[in-house]
Amino acid sequence: MRILVVEDDATLADALARALRAERFAVDVARDGIDGGHLGSTERYDAAVLDLGLPGRDGVSVLRGWREEGRDLPVLILTARDGWSDKVAGFKAGADDYLTKPFRTDEVVLRLRALIRRAAGHAAARVTCGALAYDTQLGSFELDGLPLRLTALEWRVLTQLMLRREAVIERLDLIERVYEGDADVDSNSVEVIVGRLRRKIGAAMIETVRGHGYRLTAGSAA
Ligand code: CA
Repeated sequence: MRILVVEDDATLADALARALRAERFAVDVARDGIDGGHLGSTERYDAAVLDLGLPGRDGVSVLRGWREEGRDLPVLILTARDGWSDKVAGFKAGADDYLTKPFRTDEVVLRLRALIRRAAGHAAARVTCGALAYDTQLGSFELDGLPLRLTALEWRVLTQLMLRREAVIERLDLIERVYEGDADVDSNSVEVIVGRLRRKIGAAMIETVRGHGYRLTAGSAA
C-alpha cells in the first residue's frame, strides 16, 4: 500500500508520514500542488491525502486534474475548520472523504483504510482467502486464526494480493504500490518478498503467472 500526502505544512506532513509508515504504508510526501499533482498523475497510489490550500496549485485544481485524467484513487481532503465552501468544492472535484483541521493522525489512518477497502469493492471489514484473513480496519492478518507477523514490505505485498484475491496482480503494479518514490528497487526484490510470504502462508497460496505477476488463491491445494 502506497499513499501520497500533499501538504505544505512541514510539521503536519511529517506527522502524517510518520503515522502512516508506523502502520507499514509506503508514503510519498509532496509540499506543493505542482509536485503533488504531478506525482498523482504519474505514479500509482492506493490513496491520497490532499490539503486544499497549497502553494503553486490549489488542491481542488489538483484533484480535478486527476479525475479528468481518469485517476480514480480514493482521495481524502484536508480542510480548514470554517471551510464549508472548500469542502463542497472538494467533493464536486471528486473527493471521497474529508477531515477538518486539526485532526488526529490515527483518524487519517482509519479513514484511509476504509476508503481503500471500499475502492477494492469489499463491503465487509474482514476479507478472507482460504486460511488467511485480513482485518481491513486494523490492517492485520491471521492465518488459521493466529496472528501473522509480517515486515512492512511483506505486508504491502500481501495487502495488494489480498484485496484483489483470485485476480492476477501485474508485477509492475505490485512494485509501484510497495516502494516509496525514492526507494532503491532491486529488479528481483518483489520475487524475494513473495518467496518469504510463501514460506509464511504456504507456497500454494501465491501463484506465479508467468509474464504477468502473481495471484493469491485459496485454490484446491491450499
Ligand atoms: Ca495548506
